[in-house]
Amino acid sequence: MIDPTQLSDPNAEYTMRDLSQETMNLSDEQAVTDAEITDIQTTMVDGNYPWILVRVYTDAGVAGTGESYWGGGDASIIERMKPFLLGENPTDIDRLYEHLVQKMSGEGSISGKVISAISGIEIALHDVAGKLLGVPAYQLLGGKYRDSVRAYCDCHTESEADPEACADEAERVVEQLGYDALKFDLDVPSGHERDRANRHLNPLEIQHKVDLVEAVTERVRGQAEVAFDCHWTYSADSAKRLAEALEPYDVWWLEDPVPPENHDVQQTVTEDSSTPIATGENVYRTHGQRRLIEEEAVDIIAPDIPKVGGMREGHKIAALADMYYLPVAMHNVSSPIGTIASAHLGAAIPNVLAVEYHSYQLGWWDDLVEETVIENGRIDVPPDPGLGLTLDMDAVEAHMVEGEELFDPA
Ligand code: MG
Repeated sequence: MIDPTQLSDPNAEYTMRDLSQETMNLSDEQAVTDAEITDIQTTMVDGNYPWILVRVYTDAGVAGTGESYWGGGDASIIERMKPFLLGENPTDIDRLYEHLVQKMSGEGSISGKVISAISGIEIALHDVAGKLLGVPAYQLLGGKYRDSVRAYCDCHTESEADPEACADEAERVVEQLGYDALKFDLDVPSGHERDRANRHLNPLEIQHKVDLVEAVTERVRGQAEVAFDCHWTYSADSAKRLAEALEPYDVWWLEDPVPPENHDVQQTVTEDSSTPIATGENVYRTHGQRRLIEEEAVDIIAPDIPKVGGMREGHKIAALADMYYLPVAMHNVSSPIGTIASAHLGAAIPNVLAVEYHSYQLGWWDDLVEETVIENGRIDVPPDPGLGLTLDMDAVEAHMVEGEELFDPA
């Protein structure tokens, strides 16, 4: 097997823009701490997604934990980036982020897997830097607007296409679990499909979706807001007809009704629909979200923090969105680590709506950490240094993807 750190460095001659501490001539004497990064390790946990936990170690005896968006490849990319971080000051979060983006610029660092790998490191740096400086991560982002952030529960049933079963589950999640914000999938089979490739919704399919939305929203009316996700499935005209048909039900938002690649189509769907449209989980960095925001192609922006570039990138996206009076609802399918990173960001921006919780049926999601993360549909943002969570290493080991090695304890 190839050791990715042994591949040649495309920037080895330093003729390109280089942001390392050494090249930037930054002295340890003038730094707030002279801690140095000594190692980075990853462990993949077999949750309802394969979660990639990232650990940054320092010579100060402090380590930080982050999370990269799930899937294959990130661990190898992180290993590849390790030489660019060893010996660096972990509190220079912005510079190290830009340093990694620059170093990986020939290998696809404007989007995709490289950015999700960098995101995991960036989140871990917030944990390390907060611990070294003795402040919670939200303080590193400028301080807080609120003590807790609303969580919305992504809901599922065995009978995902049965409106009454969905309504029953909505009622259960509201009354028994305490959520006042929910999301259901709307790209569920109606039994009326004719051709699944052409993206067209016929009138019977639309009526089925209306029935589902009506059953759920009526059941929890006054108790919870409900969003519905289409996972990039429909044609432009079908998306507009669906959004129009849902207008009487005042849904929280309709998510990803059309595929994500064509910005112009996304914009016309949003412009033509009074039902609020959310998107954003499939584009990277502020640059990727910029046209959605600036051209008002979205009503609610939905970046995924362990994917989009991390907490500082999320802060920039939220600031840009706020200039256009757009709220932020963070897409999230992460372990407690990525979730609490999103919550710290949510505490530190004015325009947060909520952070997604996508693991309520797993049964052991919060066993991974010693603290309680979500209670009654809210995430209290810990006042402790860094992200404020402590991994339960026994639980992590018990749920590791087969063949993974557990990273070193902090
Ligand atoms: Mg979605």
